[in-house]
Amino acid sequence: MAAPTTSKRIGYVRIAQETNALSPILTEHADFEQTHLLDAEALRQATARGGYEVKGFTRHAELTGFCRAVDKFGGGKVEAVPLFSAWAVSGGPLSTACFETFKRRLRASLRDAAPLDGLFFAMHGAMGAEGTNDPESELLRVCRDVLGDAIPIAVTLDLHAQITRDNMALANILCGYRTNPHRDHRKVGKRAGQLLVETVLGETKPTMAWRALPMVTGGGTTVDFLPTMRPVFRLMKTLEKDPAVRYVSLFMCHLWNNHPDLGWAAVVVTNDDPALADRVADELAEAAWGVKDVDPPAFDTVASALEKVRSRRKRLKLGTACMCDASDVVGAGATGENTQLLAQLLTDASDLLSLVPLRDPTFVTDHWDLPEGAPIAASVGGRLQPEYNPALAISGTLLTKRTLDCFGRVIVVDLDHVKLVVTEGPAMTMRPRFYRNVGLKPMKADICVVKSFFPFRLFFLAENRLTLYVKTRGITDMDLVTKLTFNDPVHPKDDVPDWRVIDRRRRGLAPAVIDG
Ligand SMILES: [Zn+2]
Repeated sequence: MAAPTTSKRIGYVRIAQETNALSPILTEHADFEQTHLLDAEALRQATARGGYEVKGFTRHAELTGFCRAVDKFGGGKVEAVPLFSAWAVSGGPLSTACFETFKRRLRASLRDAAPLDGLFFAMHGAMGAEGTNDPESELLRVCRDVLGDAIPIAVTLDLHAQITRDNMALANILCGYRTNPHRDHRKVGKRAGQLLVETVLGETKPTMAWRALPMVTGGGTTVDFLPTMRPVFRLMKTLEKDPAVRYVSLFMCHLWNNHPDLGWAAVVVTNDDPALADRVADELAEAAWGVKDVDPPAFDTVASALEKVRSRRKRLKLGTACMCDASDVVGAGATGENTQLLAQLLTDASDLLSLVPLRDPTFVTDHWDLPEGAPIAASVGGRLQPEYNPALAISGTLLTKRTLDCFGRVIVVDLDHVKLVVTEGPAMTMRPRFYRNVGLKPMKADICVVKSFFPFRLFFLAENRLTLYVKTRGITDMDLVTKLTFNDPVHPKDDVPDWRVIDRRRRGLAPAVIDG
């Protein structure tokens, strides 16, 4: 019997990773396998009611949100068709082999799923791959190759995504997270999903407009609930009160993406009203440009951070100080190998108990066969990115050994006032359970070093009594932006009197004619 002709089929897929272009550690297919890689059937189960979408990360993300939108807005006429889902911890660019594998798999799974009436694609937007600076657009081009130009494609992106002329042209609907730290993955998926379902059913005609801002401001100025950005995030909500305005995004770029057009962007989706989309994008861009001169909060040196910890000792009895290793943020693609911070905690903070993560797969292999309690005299670091993280001699005893999801094999070394957690995989330390899982107690420590810029602020809410951002020297330093090469002058590297000139070039428009 033939399938009922009224049924519409929308495919859904994820390929996501955040790349730090300055990391020498290429991201391979095995990194996805270790973090998150689901085939069609596993993805169907993961996004079903009661499912767990990304194990070890979040129960409900964009694709679950999309599936709920199909249930709620599809009126029984739309079927969600799972393709596959791949996500890896932040790191260096995807190797050519890895990226080509995903392109082949995407093409094959789109063909297998045919016929499709729409596609929902969850991406990061600041992914890198060898040989291209816009891999997301390359993936979208594969989709267009198979699906043609008439099938609507909705894309969800991290708000640190890089918006380009190509990804704007290839997608019909483009929606970004609206929170930083990000906590609205599912909601964004549901809203973008609703738009796509309505489009497939012929109820909505999405039209998009955008503005590209030549600014690469980052750090604490991009947190949605802090004073600098709060009014801008509020403005986005106000702009969406117009029922024709269906989605407003502000993308604040990923500083270490190394894209020659790197910068912020405003993107607006309306229902069949291009002029309105254009006006709203312009208004949001102007508001974002208005905060460009607010300096991000200054980061501490290790010495000034330790003084702050000592002066708040009483308060820390009931919790800990979260010390973000701002030069080695694994969440932003750094290697997690920072030995500089460890060296200073060892020599200058013997009065404080510190929990410190460090990635060193060779050290783990070399010491894995030792029993708990064995003495260790060895060196850590100096292997992944020695120009930043010189080898450091340590001596202590082996406290525990564990194998943890995503982190691989883990060895805890007791260095007296420092408990060093050496991991085989990327040490994306942002939750207290990272330490608890190896038998350490964050509440009892004076300092818990974390390797995430923003998410730890949510996860450590119960334990954290003092938030510190500490700079040493590494590939997630804000000032590295001054060393990158851009096509245009960008703020704050250069003096940019008028963003509109550069915006027009980036959007591929002729220079504006100035009256008078
Ligand atoms: Zn982000």
